[in-house]
Amino acid sequence: MNSARDPRIAVVGAGLGGLALAAVLQRHGRSVTVFEREASAGARSQGGTLDIHAGTGQIALRAAGLLDRFRALARPEGQEWRVLDPATGTALPFTGPVHDEDSPEIDRGQLRGLFLESLAAGTVRWGCTVTGTTPLGDGTWRLLLGDGTTEDVDLVVGADGAWSRIRPAVSPATPAYTSVTFVEAGFDDCDLRHPALARMVGHGSLLAKSDGKTLFAQRNSSGHIRAYIAFRAPQDWHLAAGVDLGDQATVRTHLLKMFDGWDESLLYLLRHNDRAFINRPLFVLPAPHTWEHVPGITLLGDAAHLMPPVGLGANLAMLDGADLAHALITEASIDDALQAYEGIMLPRSTEAALDCAGALDHLVPPTDV
Ligand SMILES: Cc1cc2nc3c(=O)[nH]c(=O)nc-3n(C[C@H](O)[C@H](O)[C@H](O)COP(=O)(O)OP(=O)(O)OC[C@H]3O[C@@H](n4cnc5c(N)ncnc54)[C@H](O)[C@@H]3O)c2cc1C
Repeated sequence: MNSARDPRIAVVGAGLGGLALAAVLQRHGRSVTVFEREASAGARSQGGTLDIHAGTGQIALRAAGLLDRFRALARPEGQEWRVLDPATGTALPFTGPVHDEDSPEIDRGQLRGLFLESLAAGTVRWGCTVTGTTPLGDGTWRLLLGDGTTEDVDLVVGADGAWSRIRPAVSPATPAYTSVTFVEAGFDDCDLRHPALARMVGHGSLLAKSDGKTLFAQRNSSGHIRAYIAFRAPQDWHLAAGVDLGDQATVRTHLLKMFDGWDESLLYLLRHNDRAFINRPLFVLPAPHTWEHVPGITLLGDAAHLMPPVGLGANLAMLDGADLAHALITEASIDDALQAYEGIMLPRSTEAALDCAGALDHLVPPTDV
């Protein structure tokens, strides 16, 4: 990019998408600052395992110079899938989405760590919540920060996830509930403490589904198993059922009633979790979600195209970051770069969002189908 001075690039959000953007820009000698509301890299557990695809997430890792380090940590054996009959717990032929050899698993925290370690010290401003942004009239933007201060920049990239504070500057869209809720459960040190479950899940993932309900468990690194108890219900299912989400015993009793008749080997996932149940209603942005180009500001990842969590969102967020970085490095101006990036990202994410909606219906089938 030709510029009298280095453009001031502000990335809002240090998730995988924002970090991929920052890592590729810095690799090419560009300045970038990432504003992240969390207090530190370790402030929050980063969630489960992700399969990183050769055609999306791995392209971003290569662009950031991190592909070899990724491969050293990744678990190709995590692609193993088992589908069980809910009533008997016996294996069924696998008919779900095929995981090819090019999609090894890695814990999200490890992946985020790779990006963070690659960045120059001080790139991420931790504990820095962005509350909004206003145009300054000349294509530049003012970021409003939670501590009352402001930052004026040439480019704002909203990489701040589902509930983006940057999105309203380009689009009025807001996420809507999908009618599917995941309740997350966790099992530690499984090979020693939960050996039967560890054998049942194997090296990869386990799935059982029936009548709008699904049990899904995944092996993470260090012997941890993360399970999702998935069902179709109103977003306030717990209120209607009189379930206090803070009361683990009541949540467990309700879930066991919901999965009545399932084999005991599968109900282990509801009875014996080591960590508190976490209620995760799933939201999506409308698909297609597009906007008219606005100078000096854009979105990537979930902020641009929140989709059901069926294995694409993190991959696409990273690819968005790498594509935007590439455009900023190669195009003559920020405006040209944003138009080039949005011209690729918006149609790609529309197609992916429609695929993901179908995949969610496959994972947790609507009960009237
Ligand atoms: C249960 C579940 C399972 C999933 N499994 C998979 C999977 O297997 N494979 C896959 O590819 N995808 C998966 N996804 C989707 C994936 O998690 C997301 O698509 C991905 O994390 C999006 O990355 P992102 O960088 O856009 O946003 P995020 O990861 O949401 O990161 C946004 C960052 O912005 C920060 N932030 C937010 N607001 C502000 C603010 N106002 N100021 C400053 N910082 C802010 C947040 O703290 C966060 O660090 C799953 C999602 C869920 C919910």
